[in-house]
Amino acid sequence: MSLLVQKYGGTSVGDPDRIRAVADHVARSARGGTEVVVVVSAMGRSTDELLRLASEVSSSQPPRELDMLLTAGERISMALMCMALADVGVEAVSFTGSQAGIITDTTHTKAKILEIRADRLRDALAAGKVPVVAGFQGVSTERDVTTLGRGGSDTTAVALAAALGAGACEIYTDVPGVFSADPRLVPEARKLARLSFEEMLDIAASGGRVLSLRSVEFARNHHVPLHVRSSFTWEPGTWVEEEDPSMEQAVVTAVTHDVSEAKVTVSGVPDRPGVAARLFRALADRHVNVDTIVQNTSVEGTTDISFTVPRDDLEGSLDTARGLMEELGAREVTADEGIAKVSLIGAGMRSNPGVSATMFETLAANGVNIEMISTSSIRISCVVRADLVEVAVGALHRAFDLAG
Ligand code: ADP
Ligand code: ASP
Ligand code: MG
Repeated sequence: MSLLVQKYGGTSVGDPDRIRAVADHVARSARGGTEVVVVVSAMGRSTDELLRLASEVSSSQPPRELDMLLTAGERISMALMCMALADVGVEAVSFTGSQAGIITDTTHTKAKILEIRADRLRDALAAGKVPVVAGFQGVSTERDVTTLGRGGSDTTAVALAAALGAGACEIYTDVPGVFSADPRLVPEARKLARLSFEEMLDIAASGGRVLSLRSVEFARNHHVPLHVRSSFTWEPGTWVEEEDPSMEQAVVTAVTHDVSEAKVTVSGVPDRPGVAARLFRALADRHVNVDTIVQNTSVEGTTDISFTVPRDDLEGSLDTARGLMEELGAREVTADEGIAKVSLIGAGMRSNPGVSATMFETLAANGVNIEMISTSSIRISCVVRADLVEVAVGALHRAFDLAG
């Protein structure tokens, strides 16, 4: 029998009606002769509410306790989902991440999955039951409850699909698929029928939060096809799978934006070997995900290094950089929270020069100044002022004719 993992995001299980609608759909899939494993997110914005509660109670928020708190959101969803499934005649059984055998490292609030011991899920399936797993969580090698970072339920779903050998992983969300830009920002954005893992990786990495980056990495590494679709319309959505070399690739597929980062600048550092190594090793040791890095040409033996980091990591990054000022011989460490990043993604960029020139011209024509630039073989990203990012996304979407 074929096996499918279905993941339902926060809006998809946001209220009792939504939970019952999802239960109906799961029941239909299960009766259609497919084995189904369900992964649920916390209802609506409840993770944000738990975070707010934590910040009202405590300024220190020990990460172990924060994880314990946040995993409660997904527990509520899984239990309610099983109850709704019981009402429609489906025998379902809920599992926390720990019960589902999701073993992680010990990095609280952004733990990495090390191993999945899915025996209990296999047993439940063999007994004809539908396992409903709480997303976004696991248990560490030290036996503490951990979370996988924001958006982590996608990762739970893909990891389970890989471990159980599922034919595909369906990600049900509040939009009908992956679009050529965030449809909330660009109403004329086009739904993409299929995308390669490579393109989706760059979309996720550059702010297209419809899938978490880790989940796409997992899917690519374990060859799990993803189907991103709507739990409101249930229509076919976007397939993310291996690149088909026989298909002609669009030069530009999507434009993404990211307002979740901040910029740190370390000024006046001596231009000698080892400075960048020391700084970025210290940041890596704090598990900071550094994104764009720019180093200026040196003037009189000193230079400036700027880099972007997730806003949540800004304080830690500043602490780290300021702690190293004396050792590095730096003059100043400053932060800038008013930045955003806009990116173009397309596999066809590899063989089509001129995309960056058109991008820069479009931004210039719209009065958007570029502060940092970074490129990969299928992506160009520019850091711009945050208040101009919507203008930039709209202009680029039009300039590259992405509405089709
Ligand atoms: P869920 O709670 O289901 O995980 P998310 O909020 O994490 O949902 O992701 C879905 C959201 O991603 C959409 O509501 C949409 O605003 C946003 N999004 C950003 N970029 C894109 C894109 N290129 N295509 C589709 N959705 C996008
Ligand atoms: N509930 C978690 C979050 O809001 C995980 C998820 O929904 O994927 O980030
Ligand atoms: Mg999500």
